[in-house]
Amino acid sequence: MKILVAVKRVIDYNVKPRVKADGTGVDLANVKMSMNPFDEIAVEEAIRLREKGKAAEIVAVSIGPAKAQETLRTALAMGADRAILVETEDEVEPLAVAKILKAIADEEQPGLVLLGKQAISDDSNQTGQMLAALMGRPQGTFANAVEVEGDSVTVKREVDGGLETVKLTLPAVVTTDLRLNEPRYASLPNIMKAKSKPLSAKTPADYGVDTAPRLKTLKVSEPPVRQAGVKVADVDELVAKIKALGIA
Ligand code: AMP
Repeated sequence: MKILVAVKRVIDYNVKPRVKADGTGVDLANVKMSMNPFDEIAVEEAIRLREKGKAAEIVAVSIGPAKAQETLRTALAMGADRAILVETEDEVEPLAVAKILKAIADEEQPGLVLLGKQAISDDSNQTGQMLAALMGRPQGTFANAVEVEGDSVTVKREVDGGLETVKLTLPAVVTTDLRLNEPRYASLPNIMKAKSKPLSAKTPADYGVDTAPRLKTLKVSEPPVRQAGVKVADVDELVAKIKALGIA
């Protein structure tokens, strides 16, 4: 079985994003960029499935600027076999990403497509669901555990009330949650090896996908500064304060 893994280049999760002075977006100049953390988990899961003998090949895909190559090289250094960069300087929205991934899935015929549950850049949490719909295949989102057996995959999903277990017929789309695994660090020899693994360069036009935005950003602003809290002496005072707020 082949696994397709979608990896997005985003602002590193340790960096506090700065809003541009003119409110048109987030400042990306001289900011450290990395693989979206949930996508690292997706790459790790694909590698673990291959190590268990459930997958034969892992193909990593990124849609983004030329520099997204670095993100793909990271996926290759972790253990992916080859990579596809769909290069565009445009800000690509989830629907266009899903359409491109669908076209790649048509070509590659993966048994499983792994994505992160959300990209920490836009926090959309949409691409996996849209892709499953476009492919007409089952989806298991927010995966906490993934088990491939024969022609199905069992996914434990993190839902509000706890865990939900679903069994999907392959090919299927699975999106990863935080507790699925702890991604490995790429070793130096593997980083060196990754430089010679195949990486093909494409464009959205190669897949017939129009990446023109459907959404218009009106304004980007910093969240309001949090008010300082107050310390209460005891539970009685706390209860009195909550009652005074009228929420208890
Ligand atoms: P989102 O729906 O934007 O929150 O993204 C969910 C997941 O879709 C991410 O964790 C990635 O696995 C995948 N994805 C989104 N955008 C891209 C992109 N430009 N390139 C590759 N994968 C992407």
